[in-house]
Amino acid sequence: MHCPFCKANDTKVIDSRLVSEGDQVRRRRECMSCKERFTTFESAELVMPRVVKTDGTRQPFDEDKLNRGITKALEKRPVGIESIEKAVHNIKYRLRQTGERELTSLRVGEEVMRELRKIDEVAYVRFASVYRSFQDINEFKEEVDRLVQDDS
Ligand SMILES: [Zn+2]
Repeated sequence: MHCPFCKANDTKVIDSRLVSEGDQVRRRRECMSCKERFTTFESAELVMPRVVKTDGTRQPFDEDKLNRGITKALEKRPVGIESIEKAVHNIKYRLRQTGERELTSLRVGEEVMRELRKIDEVAYVRFASVYRSFQDINEFKEEVDRLVQDDS
């Protein structure tokens, strides 16, 4: 890391410790050239990517909306709240893992479908039919057929 005082390339870490209950690492560094000391903080990037809608507008990631969508797809299905929470957790984890600052709403939808498919296929088809807005009934039927085939 460059020295903020003289811009030299070589700085060395002289002390490193966990702060904020272990969520951050605080490092004291010393410049090898000018001997100035400075502090850096390192923490995991936990910001969710923004969502780019099909019309190009950007929105902050909305966990409540995600929850509502999944809950709606699972209406009257024998799936507990814990499974929903786990699905939301998995979706957020994978979206964050992309390292992207922006993701398309389509991409988010794909992750939702992937999770729904694991927990309840009826919910998966319900969600997919709305999300992908199938062009015609044949396309929808193909998706259902694919599900049935995968089961065998
Ligand atoms: Zn320096």
